[in-house]
Amino acid sequence: MNGTQDGSQHESDGEFYAQLLRAYFNSANDAIFVLCNELKFLSCNRRMESWLGVAESDLTRHNCRRPITDLVGNADTAILFERAVRDVLDGEAQHFECLLEPPGASQRWVEINMTRVDVEAGEMVIAVARDVTERREQMARIFYQSTHDSLTGLPNRASLQDYLETHNAQDGPLAVLAIDVPRFRDVNEALGHNLADEVLKAITDGLEDIARQYRDTRVFRLAGDQFVIVSKGVAAECWKEISGSVQHWLAMPLKQSGIELTLGSKIGVSLYPSHVSRPGELVQAAEAALHAAKRDAATGMEMYYPELLASGGERLVLLNDLRQAIEDKSIEVYLQPIVPLHGQGLVRLEALARWNHPGRGMVSPEHFIALAESSGQILALTWLVIGRALAQAAPLLHEQRIESVSINLSPYCLLDAGFTMKFATMIASYGIEPMSVMLEITESIAMSERMQQYTVLSLRELGVELSIDDFGTGHSSLSKLRQLPVTELKIDRSFVTNMLNDENDEAIVIATIQLAHSMGLDIVAEGIEDAEVLQRLSELNCDYAQGRHICDALPIERLREWLDTKKRPGRVA
Ligand code: C2E
Ligand code: MG
Ligand code: MG
Repeated sequence: MNGTQDGSQHESDGEFYAQLLRAYFNSANDAIFVLCNELKFLSCNRRMESWLGVAESDLTRHNCRRPITDLVGNADTAILFERAVRDVLDGEAQHFECLLEPPGASQRWVEINMTRVDVEAGEMVIAVARDVTERREQMARIFYQSTHDSLTGLPNRASLQDYLETHNAQDGPLAVLAIDVPRFRDVNEALGHNLADEVLKAITDGLEDIARQYRDTRVFRLAGDQFVIVSKGVAAECWKEISGSVQHWLAMPLKQSGIELTLGSKIGVSLYPSHVSRPGELVQAAEAALHAAKRDAATGMEMYYPELLASGGERLVLLNDLRQAIEDKSIEVYLQPIVPLHGQGLVRLEALARWNHPGRGMVSPEHFIALAESSGQILALTWLVIGRALAQAAPLLHEQRIESVSINLSPYCLLDAGFTMKFATMIASYGIEPMSVMLEITESIAMSERMQQYTVLSLRELGVELSIDDFGTGHSSLSKLRQLPVTELKIDRSFVTNMLNDENDEAIVIATIQLAHSMGLDIVAEGIEDAEVLQRLSELNCDYAQGRHICDALPIERLREWLDTKKRPGRVA
């Protein structure tokens, strides 16, 4: 009797505590739920019911229990749950944050703690989840404010630096355009801050419109009237086009509150990996170039070169010296042999510009060509080089000692509608057949403006041969490449020189040789510095070879000596 009394006392105690526990369970601010090892619900509290928009009785109904992964509403969270439950069952308590997006309820970020409980019926996972949506949103707001400019909504300098620093070499090249609006200060003073703010927003819209036309191209605002455009990968190759569009757009009058303003622009450009070894250094380099562009009234766009960071006034001096050197015709042309690796063909020559500066010695062509391009002197320089190259090559061609002469063209030359006519007259005056001249153009022209392609076509019609130089460093679309009437690809020396020590380089060389041959094009490898690479290229069926191991670029007299001593130049045993 007593026993029964005690028993029912215990039972009612148990029931009381169960009810208490249930009430406690349901009143918690946190969601609490219990899952079996198949991630199906064994129990959950009210909070969890409301978060999922499903009643506990439905979640736990016999034969209808569903795994939580079916209810969370996104694949990432489902994967997180699967992994966490597995690890918990292996004895490791779990803590993680995830996004719940249940079909029947609002979405929220939750922080979850999970532990394993072993009971007679087996192992279970108990999870306690807390709503952290507000904290997340607050953090996102703070993050947004610290990384964006409040006036224009553009990402700021901190974001820019972060964006560049997280860029890896495998992500491809980068181009940074630092843009300054010279007349903005006047606008600010004349029209007041409110209107100036509107002008800044209009500039932002215009720059964003331009950026939208290119993939992976973004606009940042660093300060006041200073903007930056960053292009990645294929778009980085289009930096000239982008810079041209910005200059063109900012040169047009802008209508703001009934007033017409012409703002103008100055642009500094830096490229990775051509100019800097780490993407994080691009902004400083572009700003140094911008600084130089701002100092020179005649320059709208300036490209980075190392001396810029070292000394500011240098560029102007060098620019003047270059102008003088072109005028005095003191830019020389050296010739470098390109030898056939198979068959009996004659040696060919590439004309390479050389500037022996009176005070500095030899200036790298990459440097002074870029200087000439950015200061509008490239056409004059090119005609000087063409004249010298033809004058030196003509006798060798007439003596049938060489097959042809290759000349490098800057993309700017092809924007000149009269280029082909002038070129035709020039070769005729030296008695040179068009087919004895090869013009080297860079890969980016394949992707370039119509005018350039028109000039390319007219040159081909004239009968000169065309070659794509530095192949592999740009991003060619094969279909466009097919449309270009070229006869040869020159694989860039950066892949060739070290190809025996770098599997990737060798793979690129092999693929490029195959590609060229499949398109019926000849292939030239440049930058050959040792016999082993030369031998390997010959085995790979490369058609022509160029590099220091064979012969450096030489002044014409020394080149003649080289030709004299080589009975069959370039034959590889
Ligand atoms: P490029 O047209 O690809 O010329 C080949 C470059 O490789 C030349 O550099 C040549 O001297 C160099 N080279 C030759 N053999 C070797 C070698 O074994 N190892 C290495 N590491 N390099 C080798 P250079 O003369 O310094 O010219 C650099 C670039 O400047 C040229 O590259 C071309 O893009 C440009 N350039 C030179 N002359 C002219 C010109 O008259 N007009 C234009 N638009 N660009 C020119
Ligand atoms: Mg070349
Ligand atoms: Mg090259």
